[in-house]
Amino acid sequence: MINKIGVIGAGQMGAGIAQVAAMNGFSVILNDLKDAFLHRGMERIEKGLSSFLKKERITEEEKGAALGRIQTSLELKTFEAADFVVEAVIEDQALKLDVFRQLDEICRPGVILASNTSSIPITRIAAATKRSSEVIGMHFMNPVPLMKLVEVIRGLATSDHTFEITQELAVMLKKTPVAANDFPGFISNRILLPMINEAIFALYEGVGTAEAIDSVMKLGMNHPMGPLELADLIGLDTCLSILEVLHEGFGDSKYRPCPLLKKYVDAGYLGRKTGRGFYVY
Ligand code: NAD
Repeated sequence: MINKIGVIGAGQMGAGIAQVAAMNGFSVILNDLKDAFLHRGMERIEKGLSSFLKKERITEEEKGAALGRIQTSLELKTFEAADFVVEAVIEDQALKLDVFRQLDEICRPGVILASNTSSIPITRIAAATKRSSEVIGMHFMNPVPLMKLVEVIRGLATSDHTFEITQELAVMLKKTPVAANDFPGFISNRILLPMINEAIFALYEGVGTAEAIDSVMKLGMNHPMGPLELADLIGLDTCLSILEVLHEGFGDSKYRPCPLLKKYVDAGYLGRKTGRGFYVY
């Protein structure tokens, strides 16, 4: 029985996951490295709940109750009390492996450890623990409170039981789980990131302006957002690291990241989260 969900990383995704869990009646422990990051995460959640309130999708009482179900923490040790864990720290393999090693020590036996990674192999993350059958990918989409999809990724050793519980949890969070196997980029990013990268190449080569490229995809292909706007939303550092994983994982030059993307990341133009990416915010 899952009552308490531990979420590690109070960034864009972690805050969204914590919000959705709390809105659906779960207790949440939200962990990050510094008070300031937890504070920013809680502000994001408060803002997210307020926009649901404004749209009359929740009441003032429900907003207060959801906030009251979230406990913040600077110590992973608090995850002793968690019944299910979702990891959403930055997309850095060494860091994630270390976090999973620690979680494996701290969490009770049988507790499922899920990663929201966009691209790091679940099988590799699972191998850092002594419970590889209880490690799984739970890949939420951004912004978490609005997007229905959760890609549920089975590592090589993930058990059927772990897979079923994770799918059930996704449904309890009012999401639609879709199963994927553990290959670079899973389904979503295997298809999405080459499209974004191609849009960046088109900008780099002067085929069109950022606005023109995004307009073509919105008006011509009925995409709700253009690929460059979407890259800014995802974070250009995250886009780059996913492309590097695809490039390395398949050994195919078609996944090479555009030099312009690398340059923007070097400059600290990471998209919306830093106020500047392909657009200025
Ligand atoms: P983010 O940078 O907004 O947030 C990451 C948070 O993790 C930060 O608050 C950081 O302080 C915290 N953190 C770093 N190291 C930590 C540690 N050791 N312990 C606890 N907290 C730590 O990043 P994000 O966009 O939320 O992405 C998080 C994960 O979700 C990544 O794996 C990313 O690939 C994945 N993801 C992102 C998107 C997206 O669109 N941004 C979509 C799906 C999945």
